[in-house]
Amino acid sequence: MPYPYSDPIILRFITLGVATLSIMLLPGIDGAAATSKRGDDPHSSFKLVMSIAESLPQSKSTDPVKNTPLDNDGKVCATSWNHSVSGDNNPTADPRVSPHLPLPGSATRSESRDFSLNWLTGLATFSQMSSTLANQTKLSHLTCPVGYSLCLAFQPLLQNGLTTIVDDVTTLLLSQAFADSTSNLNPRATAARVPVIMYHDILPQKEVFFDVTPDELERHFQLIQDQGLTPITLDQLIAHLKTAIPLPEKPVLLTFDDGYSGHYQYVFPLLKKYQFPAVFSIFTDKVDGKIIGRSTVTWNQLKDMVASPFVTIASHSVSHFSNLTQLSDQRLRVELTESKRLLEGNLGIPIRYFTYPEGHYDQRVANAVRAAGYYAALTMSDTDEKFAGQSESLLAIARFGQSRLEEVIKDAWGGPPLPKWFSSFDFNSPVQKNTITFEQIPLILLTGGRPVTIHGDTRYQVADLLNITNAVAGVDGGFFSLEFLDSNVMIGPVLSQNHGTFFPGGNKDVERIAGRPLVLINPDAVTFVPFKPQRHNTLEGLRESFPGVTDAFVAAAWLVKQGQSQDRKSFGNLFDFDAARHRAFWGINQLGQPVVGVSTEPVDSITLGEILLKAGLRDAVMLDSGASTSLAFQGESMVGYTPRPVPHVVALLPPQTPCLRVDPKLTMPRKGE
Ligand SMILES: [Zn+2]
Repeated sequence: MPYPYSDPIILRFITLGVATLSIMLLPGIDGAAATSKRGDDPHSSFKLVMSIAESLPQSKSTDPVKNTPLDNDGKVCATSWNHSVSGDNNPTADPRVSPHLPLPGSATRSESRDFSLNWLTGLATFSQMSSTLANQTKLSHLTCPVGYSLCLAFQPLLQNGLTTIVDDVTTLLLSQAFADSTSNLNPRATAARVPVIMYHDILPQKEVFFDVTPDELERHFQLIQDQGLTPITLDQLIAHLKTAIPLPEKPVLLTFDDGYSGHYQYVFPLLKKYQFPAVFSIFTDKVDGKIIGRSTVTWNQLKDMVASPFVTIASHSVSHFSNLTQLSDQRLRVELTESKRLLEGNLGIPIRYFTYPEGHYDQRVANAVRAAGYYAALTMSDTDEKFAGQSESLLAIARFGQSRLEEVIKDAWGGPPLPKWFSSFDFNSPVQKNTITFEQIPLILLTGGRPVTIHGDTRYQVADLLNITNAVAGVDGGFFSLEFLDSNVMIGPVLSQNHGTFFPGGNKDVERIAGRPLVLINPDAVTFVPFKPQRHNTLEGLRESFPGVTDAFVAAAWLVKQGQSQDRKSFGNLFDFDAARHRAFWGINQLGQPVVGVSTEPVDSITLGEILLKAGLRDAVMLDSGASTSLAFQGESMVGYTPRPVPHVVALLPPQTPCLRVDPKLTMPRKGE
């Protein structure tokens, strides 16, 4: 097991629990609605002009270039850093600045509007994210449907034996999904091509044509693996068909009917070997010995099987009467409810699915299945085999006979992706402080708002810098030159919204920091890319790399990169990366919100990355750590010591605040005054 808590069924239950939480979180995802309520008058920026770095350009040796910071409407955040501040060395307004510049990132915003639909859509959205993560972590066939890292955060709950509660949550969620009482497929789910494969007996000597030998079955499993298919659970399929929750790229569902002893003897070990989930449809009279026919799986064997995360049990009626449509209402009800009751009673699990004996059903039978408390039913037809998405309803999910496996898995397809969740951003949530402890390392995280950077004219305590701006939170930023006391010279290029002036990095420096994460911020998004001196040491290069860029600097190292924590190799020659130090960091969480923070106990970089992944960050970079480590919120320092003053800060503006503003009426406290 790659993870100590990768037990798939537990992940499944736990993450359905997280799905419930996500329901509560969803209003926060809808950044678009908030964006449309911007109350700030852009013209007020004429009065509150950004000016911190105006009086002292970064370095005499570099040639600063003006940039064009934009607000959320595509207007310039501050065209006027020369309007209210006089002085000979104020940069003049850039003639290239247009108040009607198109906003390159606007597509991201309109995309994010799609996320305000309802909790099921949100669930699907989370699920897509988790599919990405789960694929990266090789857990793709029994995925955490809702945010892998968030799942991990729930591990302590698990260890405390709360699986029963979480199991109830599964039931709760599925029942919520079916609260509308229809059994229609979600229209978006009809596009996916999920083959549901039907097997019967598995035995060494074939007796009828549809018998399969254990060797043949293993060849099928091998084929599925070689073709890159992902066997899914019936829960996953039903959730997909009902809500359009995305499925893995090439999904397949394996089903075994009638409860033969070979299912326990041959199939179950193969499922464990290949880590494939499957459905077993059981009719209770056979297990109870009331119907004798071929071999039968026993109750004890079934108990063994349902303890595994790979097994779903469906009811296949009591007696396997060959055509349920011919039964009276009362007899039909008994077949449906009594089999459910017996399976649930003997196995201690909820039975949510039914499989029609020989595939026969009609509207009356389907209605009775629903009335008996099943969510969905599997059927079969020798003459009309089709993919699950083409089924007429959830109460008649189509299957293929096993002999068509090779033919149909070529066409397996999980359906069109939802809008890209993993790359969306939410810069309109309130800024909140959280103190969390993972693995004995306490972290302070300030989450939300809009990320910007502040490049001071000299060095300041972070809280002092924030106090003259409209930012509410901030962490010390990039590395700066220690060569001159009070210098604001940064190591590497820097561009900050407060002055809009680009300062290239010095020649020697930029070679030394090649490959480190270059942080690029625009009004709609943030990206972290490996710093390439040839490409990124000019404003044009930055703009090509990230249209609309307002802020840029080079950070120390990746701690979390696209949902993965980083190993030792990735830190290269970074000074003291494996030493325990106070560390400063910032990044983007899985809801697309910016996060700035510090560890309040010493921690090495590798461990910090692992912790931040569990804390829900999808990307995070380390900032200037050790003596510079500082964090401020609402005017106060959050660290219990006096950190080294710094010239650069990653700050968070409150929601509905498109631009960083510096109040010129306030004097900036100078170090030493
Ligand atoms: Zn059957």
